[in-house]
Amino acid sequence: MSDEHAVIIGASHAAAQLSAGLRQGGWEGRISIVGAEAIPPYHRPPLSKDYLAGDKHADELLIRPATYYEQQGIDLVLGSRVTRIDRAGKEIELHDGGRIPYSKLALTTGAHVRKLDIAGGELDGVFYLRDLNDVDRIRAYVGPGKSAVIIGGGYIGLETAASLRKQDMAVTVLEAMPRVLQRVTAPEVSAFYSRVHAEEGVNIITDAQVQAIEGGAGVEGVSLADGTRIAADLVIIGVGVIPATELAEAAGLEVNNGIVVDEYARTSDHDIVAAGDCTFHYNPIYDRHLRLESVQNATDQAKLAAGTLCGKLEAYNALPWFWSDQYDLKLQIAGLSQGFDRVVMRGDSETGRSFAAFYFGGDRLLAVDAVNRPKEFMSVRRALGQGQSADPALLADESADIKAAFS
Ligand SMILES: Cc1cc2nc3c(=O)[nH]c(=O)nc-3n(C[C@H](O)[C@H](O)[C@H](O)COP(=O)(O)OP(=O)(O)OC[C@H]3O[C@@H](n4cnc5c(N)ncnc54)[C@H](O)[C@@H]3O)c2cc1C
Repeated sequence: MSDEHAVIIGASHAAAQLSAGLRQGGWEGRISIVGAEAIPPYHRPPLSKDYLAGDKHADELLIRPATYYEQQGIDLVLGSRVTRIDRAGKEIELHDGGRIPYSKLALTTGAHVRKLDIAGGELDGVFYLRDLNDVDRIRAYVGPGKSAVIIGGGYIGLETAASLRKQDMAVTVLEAMPRVLQRVTAPEVSAFYSRVHAEEGVNIITDAQVQAIEGGAGVEGVSLADGTRIAADLVIIGVGVIPATELAEAAGLEVNNGIVVDEYARTSDHDIVAAGDCTFHYNPIYDRHLRLESVQNATDQAKLAAGTLCGKLEAYNALPWFWSDQYDLKLQIAGLSQGFDRVVMRGDSETGRSFAAFYFGGDRLLAVDAVNRPKEFMSVRRALGQGQSADPALLADESADIKAAFS
């Protein structure tokens, strides 16, 4: 065994993949994963879906069983927050004063929830949703007949609404913008989700200016600037995330909307790689720098970062993809729609529950939002990966084979 030591900070999707990738890539030295949460890396997406809905147990969330890490000689140092990176001394410092030396370091610190500076934000019954621990605490406030207000109509807010409706709670979603999912989808897709949530009994209020969270011993409601007051036993705030860059920044690494990495996942210090939600990286398919919040990116970038640490450089070239589950709807997204100027619809989003929205920028196909349409999702994923475009008329024509639309 070599005396090299690869240390990974953060124990989640990127860390699980990176550690496995190191062993697969022939890393013979020690590997340690140091994570602030007390459990081994787990699947985060179910937190707002099956886990919150009570359909999954915590054990089912683990990305790999704890024994995997033991068998692979990967040390898990859990419940431990890293407070400093000493690049000169090649050590990290832990919250309890402990120090761990490294020869190579990987930052997979992910993202922190964006906090809302609002009166009543500290009341019992007000939560953010990022970690398993958050959902375990939220669970105590969930039950039939109780009411919940969700601040933020993004994917996590809407998934949370669906999971709480499943448990017969009265649910209101407050969205500050004129439509839900405004930053990430076309108006047609926002309208679709608003309709379905209304059909499922969710009260969605857009253009909502939240003024205060009210209560005494615990939360009792949320008041809006227009005087509306909505009763609540539970408030969940989902207004986005901020990349966890504080360690990198303090260590003098380049940070700009995330930890800046090159195409090989290297930071400005080549003994330190980074992967996942915490990074700001170049994507050659869209020819721009991106910060993504997705399991796809965490996994793909971590594979690459592991290769880099093993001396096998491979440039990042992955197509972004994402999913969201709400009720019976499986949304699958391939590509990035930002900058689109036209949307082509296939299927009926106005009354049905299955359609695809294809995003174009000029003549170029950029992305698809496919709801209960796995074929359309797969076709676009393949086409974008191969640099193909598509014929909008054939995409819109339900009688035409979807495959025929791509060239
Ligand atoms: C509720 C929810 C639903 C989601 N649904 C989807 C979905 O459907 N599809 C999808 O693709 N993505 C989804 N995501 C996003 C996805 O979970 C993230 O993109 C993914 O978890 C990123 O993985 P990561 O390893 O980069 O970072 P994270 O999962 O954020 O993990 C970072 C870890 O690092 C730890 N850490 C940070 N700083 C330190 C420190 N100083 N010391 C020690 N440990 C530290 C944190 O505690 C955390 O455990 C969802 C996210 C949430 C919260």
